[in-house]
Amino acid sequence: MSEISASATNRNDAAALRERSRLSFDLDVDICVVGAGLAGLTVALEAARLGASVAVLEGRHVGWNASGHQLGTVMPGYSLPIGDLIARIGFEDTRELWSLSKQGAEYVRANATEELIPGIALSEGALEVSNVDVGDQLISRLQMLGEDFETEVEGWQVDRVRDQLRTDRYFHGVYYPRAFQIDGRKYLHGLAALAKRAGARIFEDTPVVSIDPSGIRKRIVTPSARLRASHIVLAGNIHLGAPLQRLSETLLPVWRYAAVTAPLGERLAEVMTFQGSVTDSDGIDHFRIVEGDRLMWASPETTWAARPERFAGAIARRIRTVFPRLGKVDIAEVWGGAVGQTVHGMPQIGQLRRGLWVASGFGRQGLNTSAMAGQLIARSILWGDERWRLFSPFELVWAGGPTGRVAGHVVGIWGRAGSAAAGALARYRERARVREGIREARLVEANRQAGTRPPQRRPPPGRPRPERRRPPVAANPEGDGG
Ligand SMILES: Cc1cc2nc3c(=O)[nH]c(=O)nc-3n(C[C@H](O)[C@H](O)[C@H](O)COP(=O)(O)OP(=O)(O)OC[C@H]3O[C@@H](n4cnc5c(N)ncnc54)[C@H](O)[C@@H]3O)c2cc1C
Repeated sequence: MSEISASATNRNDAAALRERSRLSFDLDVDICVVGAGLAGLTVALEAARLGASVAVLEGRHVGWNASGHQLGTVMPGYSLPIGDLIARIGFEDTRELWSLSKQGAEYVRANATEELIPGIALSEGALEVSNVDVGDQLISRLQMLGEDFETEVEGWQVDRVRDQLRTDRYFHGVYYPRAFQIDGRKYLHGLAALAKRAGARIFEDTPVVSIDPSGIRKRIVTPSARLRASHIVLAGNIHLGAPLQRLSETLLPVWRYAAVTAPLGERLAEVMTFQGSVTDSDGIDHFRIVEGDRLMWASPETTWAARPERFAGAIARRIRTVFPRLGKVDIAEVWGGAVGQTVHGMPQIGQLRRGLWVASGFGRQGLNTSAMAGQLIARSILWGDERWRLFSPFELVWAGGPTGRVAGHVVGIWGRAGSAAAGALARYRERARVREGIREARLVEANRQAGTRPPQRRPPPGRPRPERRRPPVAANPEGDGG
């Protein structure tokens, strides 16, 4: 398990590891779920709550990959930006999909209570900050989210953002008061416990090696047992492999790494007072304060599996780049997990053939979207809910195998480099504007003292010069000359 640190594994619920049980006898169920990540466990919980007999088969252990290593931020929406979604499927369908994504977030909230999952530590509010100075775009985005997509949002001016995050890296912000964060690992293991309580059976160390989805009763083969089920739900993300290799190949695996710092004491409060999750508009950084004075921070990505420990230095440097006033930070723990990204950026949710379902490709935003997928699929199987068809425009597109992965990394770096350049340009322009303001004020003052008129203002660097206006042509050019 090269992509997950040993220390991260140690932090997994010891109880959950003890209870691990491998499937060693044949079984007949209504629904067989492949994969015990967020997606598979939500399908299992919902289907069991609705009365189906459910078996979850997990090749390693519950939350082994991304689901056990996420940061616990629950936001509305998808990995694909809302503007791109509208361009692809139109306004009305985007509204429907957006509304489903909000329902996914509310589903997590309904389960993430202290009564159902003790220690879940839910706290409210997340801030999306812009790496570039685009205040004008912010207003239209707020209008769209608030009015057209009925999502509670607040626009934060640069001053307000920088009052709570003392860095010149970020400009405006969109605050989501209904977004929230939870202890991500507790949620994952809590889901497993809730699913078991509802009657689902979870088998670990039980990889599915092949499936035969033809016929009414489908066959599932594991190394030490066989199952028969009316429905199979493939929730194996990028590791699905042999049972449906071609499906795995529609995902571009991206390994994302995260760390938690050692306690930073009072210096953390000097650079950051915002208590919710912060994500930047380019998807580079994602962080929040945990345990009062530590930072939990996700940033680097690769398209190959690497040892997370290798990225401790990179994450520490990234934190210092964003918050130089923090000084040196020590990293206490690093971990990582692989997310599956689709070519179009939207998750794969739906029925591949009668009784064969897929819930995958949730990318970086898997908490609300996998919750929604779990609900949609369980309700479709048991109640005939057909809303999963809203995802039909996002077909299964081959992600290019190893070549695609290399290309993906290049595109990733290119995107990030582009974002970094845009951010640097925005900061440069801002500094130039400040310098220009000071210069102009000095000039006005000097002219006032000298009793002369200031010369025409020059535009600051990076801004287009205003077009020179012609003087209005008088109706009577020979007029009185006023
Ligand atoms: C560092 C990091 C931080 C993140 N932070 C956030 C966040 O704050 N908010 C958010 O919304 N999202 C976040 N994400 C994304 C989120 O974690 C993922 O989108 C989500 O966990 C995907 O869930 P999944 O169930 O599809 O996949 P997985 O977690 O990969 O689960 C799939 C499971 O299926 C099993 N499996 C695969 N094939 C087989 C087989 N053949 N037989 C049996 N079992 C099989 C695997 O072993 C695995 O356990 C983060 C991700 C990372 C890596």
